Amino acid sequence: MYPAHDQADRMTGWGHTCRWLYNTALEQRQFAWQQRKATLGVTAQCAYLTEARKDFDWVADLPAQSGQQVLRNLDQAYRNWWNPQHSAGAPTRKRKSARLSVPFPGQAIAVRRLNRRWGVVSLPKVGGVKFRWSRPLGGSVRNAVVSFDGVAWHVGFGIHAGVTTPEAHAQLDRVVGVDRGVKVALAMSDGRMWNRTFTTPGQERQLARLKSKAGRQETARRRRGARTSNRARKIRAEIARAEAKVRNRRRDFVMWAANRLCHQYAVVKIERLDIQAMTATAKGSITEPGRSVRQKAGLNRAILDKGWGLFHTALDNKARATGTRIGRVPAAYTSWRCSRCGYTDRDNRDSQAVFRCGSCGYEANADVNAAINVRDAAEAASPLTGRAVRDRNRKASCRPPTQRRPNTALETGISRLF
Ligand SMILES: [Zn+2]
Repeated sequence: MYPAHDQADRMTGWGHTCRWLYNTALEQRQFAWQQRKATLGVTAQCAYLTEARKDFDWVADLPAQSGQQVLRNLDQAYRNWWNPQHSAGAPTRKRKSARLSVPFPGQAIAVRRLNRRWGVVSLPKVGGVKFRWSRPLGGSVRNAVVSFDGVAWHVGFGIHAGVTTPEAHAQLDRVVGVDRGVKVALAMSDGRMWNRTFTTPGQERQLARLKSKAGRQETARRRRGARTSNRARKIRAEIARAEAKVRNRRRDFVMWAANRLCHQYAVVKIERLDIQAMTATAKGSITEPGRSVRQKAGLNRAILDKGWGLFHTALDNKARATGTRIGRVPAAYTSWRCSRCGYTDRDNRDSQAVFRCGSCGYEANADVNAAINVRDAAEAASPLTGRAVRDRNRKASCRPPTQRRPNTALETGISRLF
């Protein structure tokens, strides 16, 4: 999307207001639960928003419908968390460094096509903004999200396409297992391996340089107790741009792979999402700082770990259009087990790349062997691991037994949050 300077400035403000609103509303709900074991719903929170709009000009500047949509999104995040079939965890605060985004319901906007390549979307308060018509809409517009990812502005439309999931897949009973490979990003039980690099070594060095520079600037700023300098801001924007590019490439690869698999197979089986293992990898600890420890051998795995959750989502979305069924299998021992005789031993793994069975002598690519195990494994009833479910249940004690109305004392406490 190509907004003018003043349009971009205003939408940037809205993006930050939306983040503030989401975080404040989340805090409200947590507060209401901790204090009174009460659950605030969208309706109640929309009423608070109306009050806040009277008090603060910068809240009032955000189109009312966008604010309400933010509150609905938070409510959906809560419902996903409470849903045992959904893999989402508890809603978390949106960070300042996250992508800016402003939601609009369909009736607040109008979309017009100018020619083959360009369109105009009319947004409340800022008017028409030109955008590249990058793909056919394929239906009627239900809503829009305007966002800024550090590189450029985007507008995405939610479409009612009237597409229904086919009863049977075109490739009737074809089944494939997919594993996150060590040598390559994705290994399939049919022997194919897909990989893509998201950065060049030069780009990685460049990013590391920028990050250390930003670190030095931040230390110096703290020491002086000064405000963030324009130079520091420029470096930060450069880092954001570089990271956004990597993210976009990963996203593109993940979507491409999910699309292909769903078209080619009636059943796609993947390892169950282990949220805890994933966060452990990303964070690491002081003695084992995740990333550098697994560097060489686990590089590709580490790269896709970040996209694995997205890959699951992409598969689910594509599957709705093709009629593919996505099966989740427990991830344990898939890389140690021989896919021919079932002998399971960690020494079967000859090297990172080669699997050699200690019992029957079967030799194969280690990632493909694991993918075959995933294909042949029994499916888990729930997409979550037992540990994740227990963890969730503990936290979901925040789930209300019944819907209760917040009382006045509570409201006083809540209004203090604004
Ligand atoms: Zn064997």
